[in-house]
Amino acid sequence: MRGEARPTRARISLDALRHNYRVLRASASDARVMAVIKGDGYGHGLERVARTLMPEAECFAVSGVDEARPIRAAGATQPVVLLGGFFSADEIPLHAREAFQPVIHSHWQVEALAAAGHHEPLDIWIKVDSGMHRLGFLPDEVAGVHRRLSALPGIREIGFLTHLAEADDRDSPRTPEQLRTFEQACAGLPGPRSAANSAGTLGWPAAHCDWVRPGISLYGATPFVDQGRARPDLRPVMTLESGLISVKQLPAGAPIGYGSTWRCPEAMPVGVAAIGYGDGYPRHAPSGTPLLVDGVETQLLGRVSMDLITVDLRPCPQARPGARVVLWGDGLPAETVADRAGTIAYELFCQVTPRAPRQVV
Ligand code: PLP
Repeated sequence: MRGEARPTRARISLDALRHNYRVLRASASDARVMAVIKGDGYGHGLERVARTLMPEAECFAVSGVDEARPIRAAGATQPVVLLGGFFSADEIPLHAREAFQPVIHSHWQVEALAAAGHHEPLDIWIKVDSGMHRLGFLPDEVAGVHRRLSALPGIREIGFLTHLAEADDRDSPRTPEQLRTFEQACAGLPGPRSAANSAGTLGWPAAHCDWVRPGISLYGATPFVDQGRARPDLRPVMTLESGLISVKQLPAGAPIGYGSTWRCPEAMPVGVAAIGYGDGYPRHAPSGTPLLVDGVETQLLGRVSMDLITVDLRPCPQARPGARVVLWGDGLPAETVADRAGTIAYELFCQVTPRAPRQVV
């Protein structure tokens, strides 16, 4: 066994992060890159990710001011876009002072800006609902909202931003439709445009506009649902790993774990690894979910417990306590695991708990 108390950790490769940024930078051609680092840098550590990308990223995007402040405090001088805008009008002077750029998605925010007292010049984005029907102004509202906002003394530059609902499907007709709607909604209005998430950046050149906004691909997961097609040259940033703490030989018919949902079809070696849903490994991962033991692909058996999982050791009968177990990352894409567990890599990354310490490599 290794010397540490518990062998469970999320190793974070900053080289992989830098590599992925450069791949996205190259894919974006003439567009500039807004690195999306909300959600604690998709679970990789907000400040760590910001510091790593600071020398190269042209802009950062987060959800709100609580994530923007630590980025400034860490020394970032580039603009920080707040994708959720402001949640209360009290925030407006701070945004102006700190060069945060709120995304304005609702009429109440327009009114709040109109009512705000004197503040330093503020750059903002108008969110256009081009068809996802989540946040944003409907196309026929955009010119009016722009007219109102551009007449306000505290507003400097106004950009236009929309979000794509199906860019992860490279055959979806919805993406060109959304792009057409977006273009028409802001036709003739001055200001930068932004439409592309990771999938848009890597798969839809027509979506690049002035700024791309990749998130998940920075962390090494492919954003596409059609995983059969050529995978972009992305490297996993997070490797979630643990170790075997028990190995035994079980007889044919032995049930495994809570609910006895899996039974040994033959006499076989079974291991237990020190990781569970208390560390963020998905509780709903079914038997058969792939994992690596000392680099050999094998499978999860039975239900995931809070602190433990049970592992099929038939493909690696030599494995002993202390063997390294990789849940996703190096050698096993997070999106493959996510697919089996009925979720997405975004959620896997964000759900890793502090009990799995982030260890920078
Ligand atoms: N832009 C907006 C408005 C988002 O909400 C997100 C992520 O949810 C992104 C960009 C980045 O998307 P992705 O992580 O799929 O690249």
